[in-house]
This record gives sequence, C-alpha cells and structure tokens, in this order.
Amino acid sequence: MNYGMVKRMYDISDKFLYEILDDYKETIIDKEKDDIIKEFMKLIWSSKNKRSTYKKDIRFSVSKSLLSTEIGQIFNTYSDVSYITYRSMTKDTDFVSLIRQKINNIYTNLCDGNVCLKKEYMDLIKQPKQMYYRWKSGEEYDVTTLTSQIDNIIADSINVKEKYAKQKMNISWNAYKKLIAPYFKRMFENFVPLEDFEDKSHLTIDINTWNEDNFAIAYLCKGLDGYMRNYQKEYYGVKRNKPIKRCLCCGDIMYDKDKTKPHKYCDKCKKEIKNIKNKSYYSN
Ligand SMILES: [Zn+2]
Repeated sequence: MNYGMVKRMYDISDKFLYEILDDYKETIIDKEKDDIIKEFMKLIWSSKNKRSTYKKDIRFSVSKSLLSTEIGQIFNTYSDVSYITYRSMTKDTDFVSLIRQKINNIYTNLCDGNVCLKKEYMDLIKQPKQMYYRWKSGEEYDVTTLTSQIDNIIADSINVKEKYAKQKMNISWNAYKKLIAPYFKRMFENFVPLEDFEDKSHLTIDINTWNEDNFAIAYLCKGLDGYMRNYQKEYYGVKRNKPIKRCLCCGDIMYDKDKTKPHKYCDKCKKEIKNIKNKSYYSN
C-alpha cells in the first residue's frame, strides 16, 4: 500500500462558481488547473438535472353524438397525435443545475433528431384538431376530401420532421460530453471577472440585480453556445464568417456560393441526384 503520497484533490464543494473560476486563475500549476476542471466537470455530469425528452399529446374528443357519423369517425382516428418534446428549464437556481440545463438544451437542439418543435411541424400536427372544431362549428367536409386532406397533412408532417432531423448533427451524448469538456477549460482560461471590468457602463446587464455568480454562469452558457456554433461549422467543413445555408436534400450546411445563381443541393447530393436521373434515363 502506498501511504507516502497524499493526493490533494481540489475541494469544489460549497463553492460559488466565481470562486472556482478565481481559484483556476490564481493557480499557476497545470496539474492543479486540470484538477479544478476535472472536479468541475464531475460536478456538472453528476447533476440530478438530467436531459429528458418525453411524449406530449395533442388531444381532442369527438362528441358522442358525432362519433356515429363517418366524418366523426375519421376525426376520432386523429384525436390523439403525439410528439416528442423536452424539458428545457429547471426550477433550481444553483450554478450546476443551470449550466447542466444549458448543456442539455444545446444537445437536444443540435443533436437529437427525435425532438422537433419547429413551428412548421407543430402547425401541421395541430391541424386535425383545428379542423375538427371547425367542422363542429359548422364548416362542411365530405368524407373523401377530408380523408385525403388529413393523409396529406400527416405525410407532410413526417417529411418536415425528417427534414429537420437531418439538419441535426450525428453525435452521441458521450461524444458530446468529450467534445465540450475542453471548451470549458478554454472558457476558464479566458474568464474575466466582473470586478475586472473597470468601465461597467458598456455591460448591458443591470449590475444591481446581477451578482458575480450570475455573471459567471451567463459567461459559460453564452460561451458554450458560441463554441458549439463554431463546432457545427467545423462538423460540416465550412469556414466561419462565410455565408452558409442548408442543402435541401441532406440538410448539411454548405456555402451559399452565389446569391445570383442559387443552388439547392450540396455537391454530394447533386452527384447522387444526377446518377439517379441517368439511371432512370437508361432504364426507360
Ligand atoms: Zn446534400
């Protein structure tokens, strides 16, 4: 057994975030700096504020008297449409919960294709319910038109969801965790405490209600946003500060090369579309 080495780990418990950042600034020993980051990340990953997605329903119930009609039956089929949403806020106000919430939200928004809350999608899946209430209040529908209308709405909603899912990055939660830890190290490195801002007039925040810790929390959250935005460009192989857009086929980010001659697809998809066209040309 080794009694000789007493390993002194950084004691992070009961500290304010700005104190941790201060400690990081003050130490000049790399090993100690690494310890602080390690303990900080441990704290974040052990937070009870886990990322969670859950099913939500858009429901309505067809009145009993209408249930026996053919139209009523059609509406009844679509009286419970579910979609996946996520918990985007926390009631807790400690820095660990707040930063973990930010980390969770960024992952959901950039990497989780199951979650789609875009207006374009939500507007579509809410339509059967709205149509039911219009019908109930007097608007007329015939069975064939209604069936095909709803079929189209459902098909559109699936396409829209797929389109947005493709725009998300394919990164696992564990890979994401590994990706962002170094960002926190860099942010710790670059942190400027509130008290060091000699001229506080250019800060757009109200200093009186804004304590040192809120400042530090906001700094890390905003910073992580920025790092992930840059990573997203790296992921798609595009440089920063250049106009970009999404490929209509695969959803990848690509350069918006020429505004006067707009292109819809990335090079990869352009090639594939051309191949498919050629094949169908020869097979006809
Ligand atoms: Zn593409």
